Amino acid sequence: MMNQFVQNYVDGFMADLVAKNPGEKEFHQAVKEVLDSVAPYIVEHPYLMDQKILERIVEPERVIIFRVPWLDDEGEIHINRGFRVQMNSAIGPYKGGLRFHPSVNLSIMKFLAFEQTFKNSLTTLPMGAAKGGSDFNPKGKSDNEVMRFCQSFMTELQRHVGQDTDVPAGDIGVGSREIGFLFGQYKRLRNEFTGVLTGKGLNWGGSPLRPEATGYGTCYFASAMLATRGDSFKGKTVAISGSGNVAQYAAQKALQLGAKVVTLSDSNGFVYDPDGIDEEKLAYVFELKNIYRGRIREYAEKYPGAQYFENRRPWGIKCDIALPCATQNEINAQEAQTLVDNGCICVAEGANMPSEPEAIEIFQKAKLLYSPGKASNAGGVATSGLEMTQNSIRLKWTEEEVDAQLHRIMTDIHEACVKYGTEPDGYVNYVKGANIASFIKIADAMMAQGLV
Ligand code: NDP
Repeated sequence: MMNQFVQNYVDGFMADLVAKNPGEKEFHQAVKEVLDSVAPYIVEHPYLMDQKILERIVEPERVIIFRVPWLDDEGEIHINRGFRVQMNSAIGPYKGGLRFHPSVNLSIMKFLAFEQTFKNSLTTLPMGAAKGGSDFNPKGKSDNEVMRFCQSFMTELQRHVGQDTDVPAGDIGVGSREIGFLFGQYKRLRNEFTGVLTGKGLNWGGSPLRPEATGYGTCYFASAMLATRGDSFKGKTVAISGSGNVAQYAAQKALQLGAKVVTLSDSNGFVYDPDGIDEEKLAYVFELKNIYRGRIREYAEKYPGAQYFENRRPWGIKCDIALPCATQNEINAQEAQTLVDNGCICVAEGANMPSEPEAIEIFQKAKLLYSPGKASNAGGVATSGLEMTQNSIRLKWTEEEVDAQLHRIMTDIHEACVKYGTEPDGYVNYVKGANIASFIKIADAMMAQGLV
């Protein structure tokens, strides 16, 4: 429970933030979650209040919004909106993904850039935070249309990024194909082959394990949480949402760790396979989604033992472990309660902010092992950091070396959460732990660098 002074501080801060950033509901939600955790710490350290550290952190260092014109295959003109929110460079060059999805707007970009600030701080690597993207929808577009869009997008973005300035990567709708087109255009315009983007192909500057890193890291983090209760993935039933990059590799690692994965989804619905999505069926999903760019419903057509549920999310399926790996706000309070009632013991977020605030409250009240995305999905950006290091030294590490580093980083993040998040009754509040650990590091760096 917060004392009255802290509560007044939180309420006043949020009122100012909402007034200054009207309509940005995802951004408000992300700030409120951090504020609830760090406000008691700030109140105990009044110099942080005097220095207005939090007021500075919520104000992006720079927001770039630009026109992205492109021609489709029929010669018709389309105009999309491009974004790059450069949030915080206190601990390194800006770093964070690009999202291509029709829902993209300034609020979503700012929430993601804000989350990225704390996530990147947790990785222990020297990375500041940014996020960007466009309301462009790659779904149903030809490869040539996607290429023309990426080239137009980078024609403007190249003015604002660079290996020592800002290093974008992938996110929803931006995978290896898009990173390739973006990198090609940057190289052409600037006449330089540098590590300006991460998630590159293995033969042209990419790191082993970068595609796998977010999903694998989420499972490593969940394993560390389970270990605090002497438990593991072995023999557990796992529900996963999404069927993109993060979901695919979370499923693969969960299988390797001895679990049974029973669901995957996309924005149209989910599949439930009571027999389990084994290695062979998962290989089909990789092909379906990454090569043919098909829909998850086709899984149930191929494997008749599975059922497809249109316009539904997988949280009604009984599971021990839930890994939300699709998008923000994809678990509401009712779904959270269903997970708890069905005996779920662990929720590790692969996506960014997939649980609504009321859902988080339910998980924490039930003393579930629950980790926020900024902690459990940090393996993706951490491995991007390792890709930047390899680019700088012009060397490529082996898969084993990168995996060992990813594993260590996820374990370190887990330890930081335990250090700052353990409640008097022994329950680990991973939200509080992640927010305080990362906040202290960013605040210290900002204070050391003066009022900039
Ligand atoms: P992908 O584009 O590869 O996959 C996204 C998946 O989520 C798809 O199955 C997509 O379905 C589904 N999805 C997207 N939007 C919605 C929606 N509004 N409702 C329901 N389902 C939706 O993206 P990633 O796997 O890379 O990203 C997934 C999540 O993980 C995001 O929250 C992202 O921010 C986060 N993340 C990603 C990292 C990375 O390294 N890629 C790093 C850290 C976090 P459909 O095909 O129908 O759109």
